[in-house]
Amino acid sequence: MSLIVAKFGGSSVASLEKIKDIARRIKQMKEEGNQLVVVVSAMGDTTDELIELAHATGPNLCTREMDMLLATGEQQSAALLALTLYNMDCPARSFTGWQAGIHSNSNYSKAKIDDVDAQRISSELEQGFVVVVAGFQGISPEGDITTLGRGGSDTSAVALADSIKADRCMIFTDVDGVFTADPRVVSEARKLSMVSYGEMLEMASLGAGVMQPRAVEYAMQCQMEIEVRSSFNQHPGTIITEGKNMEGHRVVTGVAHDLNCARFAIFDVPDRPGIARELFKQLAQEGINVDMVIQSAMRDHRNDIAFTIEENDLERAIPVVDRLVKTLGASGMSYGNSVAKVSIVGAGMQSNTGVAADMFEALAEENINIHMISTSEIKVSCVVDEDRIQDAVRVLHKKFNLDRIE
Ligand code: ADP
Ligand code: ASP
Ligand code: MG
Repeated sequence: MSLIVAKFGGSSVASLEKIKDIARRIKQMKEEGNQLVVVVSAMGDTTDELIELAHATGPNLCTREMDMLLATGEQQSAALLALTLYNMDCPARSFTGWQAGIHSNSNYSKAKIDDVDAQRISSELEQGFVVVVAGFQGISPEGDITTLGRGGSDTSAVALADSIKADRCMIFTDVDGVFTADPRVVSEARKLSMVSYGEMLEMASLGAGVMQPRAVEYAMQCQMEIEVRSSFNQHPGTIITEGKNMEGHRVVTGVAHDLNCARFAIFDVPDRPGIARELFKQLAQEGINVDMVIQSAMRDHRNDIAFTIEENDLERAIPVVDRLVKTLGASGMSYGNSVAKVSIVGAGMQSNTGVAADMFEALAEENINIHMISTSEIKVSCVVDEDRIQDAVRVLHKKFNLDRIE
């Protein structure tokens, strides 16, 4: 008998038919003698639809109220799954995040889980119920409902798996596992049988939406192995685990891309200490994260500074940067959202030189212009024009022979 946490994403619970399909699968796992905690996302595009509805109320979207609203999506699918299981003679009980003991901080819309009190869940499991938990939500110290950031049901699953010391943490989704690139962009992308926490964290942070980055980070911290697999078939998936024996095995493991990217440039910024601090401080105060930064070579004691942020922060960033242009004494700014980021990721890069050069060569051969570059030990990222992003992903996938990866 195993104690299993199984998470089913939005597309796996998109309709009652799909909920019935996964209920059959859950019932079978239960009948094989396993104890099950099932975490669900909202049905299909429910979260996006709720966000759209909220926008129709007016321009000011209080994050506390947004969390109240968005958490209802997962509550619907949790209750519907429990009802379906009951109707299949498989006793189940559904719970909200707070009923399941998921305590978070009060950072509405991007709350972090502080701890999980699994007593209630454990007692329901002992009574023989399948426990169904609404993903993506927790409760703040003040007793308010919080949500855990887009894709946050993955983190709910990992945190619950850790707290009940589950034998397996399974993430069921609409693809067969983690691939060498988004299989919807590169048809030759290969499923990885195993990927290290470090590589997965980079890939997820750089746009591979199959796992929420925070979930991978959480799993890495508590050493919880994750299996990513399909809701729709029985194929073996991808194991995300400690990478001791994998490093050096392959130079590049995957290509990730991110369309949620916008760029700013500020012209003729006076070259004196404290300018970068001022820029980053003002943006951070608005909760805006700066990703890549480039400062041009100084001429006449002035520089141009270019940087990228998340595209969904663009509207909020424009007035902040506009104010900064005036206070810093710069000559002007430009901004736009027609850029995207492509990255290659691989633990083996650390010990192989020339990987970045190969990346730039592949992009140049395809006549793709690079606007910005950033590197770390296990990744190289380039900002390119958004309308060339799919070409960039495909050409890099080919350059590093990822269609032939073992
Ligand atoms: P869920 O609703 O199950 O949480 P998501 O839409 O969040 O599913 O994540 C699955 C999607 O992630 C896939 O449909 C795929 O298009 C996308 N994806 C992006 N990069 C990758 C990758 N490297 N491997 C697998 N899927 C990826
Ligand atoms: N429903 C939420 C979202 O769409 C959380 C999740 O799917 O994990 O982001
Ligand atoms: Mg997801």
